[in-house]
Amino acid sequence: MAKTWQLYINGRWGGAQSGQTFPVVNPVTQDVLAQVPDGGPAEARAAVEAAAGAVPGWSRLPGLERGRFLARAHQLMLERGDALARLVTQENGKPFEEARKEVAFAAGYFHWFAEEARRVYGAIVPAPSPHTRLWVLKQPLGVVAAITPWNFPATMVTRKIAPALAAGCPVVLKPASATPLTALALAEILHEAGLPAGVVNVVVGTHASALAEVFVRHPQVRKIAFTGSTEVGKALMAQAAPQLKRVAFELGGNAPFVVCEDADLRAAVEGAATIKFLRVAGQSCICANRLYVQESMAARFIPAFLDRVRAITVGDGFQPGVEVGPLINNATLHKVESLVQDAVAKGAQVGVGGQRLRTGALRNGWFYAPTVLLDVRDEMPVCQEEIFGPVAPVLTFRTDAELIARANATTFGLASYIYTQDYARILRLAEALAYGLVGVNGATGYTHEIPFGGCKESGLGREGGHEGLEEYLESKSIVLHMPPS
Ligand code: NAP
Repeated sequence: MAKTWQLYINGRWGGAQSGQTFPVVNPVTQDVLAQVPDGGPAEARAAVEAAAGAVPGWSRLPGLERGRFLARAHQLMLERGDALARLVTQENGKPFEEARKEVAFAAGYFHWFAEEARRVYGAIVPAPSPHTRLWVLKQPLGVVAAITPWNFPATMVTRKIAPALAAGCPVVLKPASATPLTALALAEILHEAGLPAGVVNVVVGTHASALAEVFVRHPQVRKIAFTGSTEVGKALMAQAAPQLKRVAFELGGNAPFVVCEDADLRAAVEGAATIKFLRVAGQSCICANRLYVQESMAARFIPAFLDRVRAITVGDGFQPGVEVGPLINNATLHKVESLVQDAVAKGAQVGVGGQRLRTGALRNGWFYAPTVLLDVRDEMPVCQEEIFGPVAPVLTFRTDAELIARANATTFGLASYIYTQDYARILRLAEALAYGLVGVNGATGYTHEIPFGGCKESGLGREGGHEGLEEYLESKSIVLHMPPS
């Protein structure tokens, strides 16, 4: 019998008051995987109130105890890694091996913040007068509303929930309506880990702006932690302004991937293929969006890159050997198609790919061929916008000064990549690139221990590292006056 999925509010499972449900669709087959309750404002309010009720107990629990819950959740996630990965592949489409890695990485946030929960340090500050003493306490903010996207259905959830819980903040989570099952399975894990009722609540629903309206307006919600598009981030910021509600945003990107003439060719080709195509079919915020290859390197890099891209296997993520799955939905597919068509109409050449894949087993899915575009110019929309699909525009550059100016000429500032063997050049470029993350001679490897986040319109705040915990804490200064002895 098919599993019944429910909302998770105040430690209990239930449907939506409206009785409405919505379908979760497999992007490979377009089969309906499950019907899920369509939570609305009533459920969002109930969840916020449950979280508010949990604040006193959870915030006063010693960090050591909070960390133990997170450590149990980490363990349960590892034990259920394959089952969770199956859900991720089913609802998101990414290949199963990639989903397994995502689940292990997502679990790592529980591990990291289980330990960080014990390190909420304040300060004793030397006072300027002998008659006063100064302390700074770090206290949890209170209820956090978290809104997450579909491209990393597990990681985007744990990267918010884990630090909030470690800091002492109960959470209301609204995951993407395309991928709610992974989030609900994570709620099951937190429930089994023994989390007190109300500390985590999960409301899924298709009326995102109505749910967000409740979060933004409710006086008990102290922070909105959002990952998603820059467009929605800006709208949320405007909605949050009248209440001066705190916001943290992880938004879109437009990552430059730089291959200098002295780069290790094989590493650069593999890095570009990995970060462009092998992460959610190019639907990742840190995907390479524009490849800048030094002119004197282009004749070697481009043929090798085209060969690597031709060898990528696209298909159903449960089939062995598949490296790239489908796009999440028709709208994303159309956006990718139109960016490629526009570039070609303006003079770009298709090196490989360049069309939708719809034959045989791929006929029902939203598949797009891994594509490389040559003779591209910076002003083309394919370079200006976040592509969010398996398309790599290749451009060339001559000097580092020119490269820096072109790479930084975007409103985004999330991730960037440099390939060169020259260490002085690495430092000069890394310092000059206006991005929150710079990958050097490798395109993967960002991890729990470091802060992650964007500059400019790519976001506000950081997730991960010790800074990830600070995002959910408030400083309180205590000034003690002492009578003269
Ligand atoms: P999205 O459309 O902004 O949706 C993200 C989340 O916001 C979903 O839960 C969505 O709900 C909800 N949402 C949609 N409209 C809303 C509204 N008006 N008010 C409040 N919430 C709303 O983004 P997406 O297409 O899911 O994700 C792709 C974007 O996320 C890309 O731009 C990508 O770069 C960015 N991203 C950034 C990071 C990072 O760390 N910087 C990580 C991953 C993704 P529904 O699903 O119900 O529509």
